[in-house]
Amino acid sequence: MKTLCDLKKDYIEEHISEVIKLVDKPKYVCRKCLRSANEKDKVCKPILISDALMGKK
Ligand SMILES: [Zn+2]
Repeated sequence: MKTLCDLKKDYIEEHISEVIKLVDKPKYVCRKCLRSANEKDKVCKPILISDALMGKK
């Protein structure tokens, strides 16, 4: 798996327990796709959610 952004819907359905572990405590959000992730390298354009809420880019 590269990033959550690349996942297809079929893959998500088949691996739901595995992928939920990557998003159960999200700190990052993808500013392009809006997927959220626990780890920075799981989305293609990561930004810290706390930074995003502060208006940082
Ligand atoms: Zn993305």
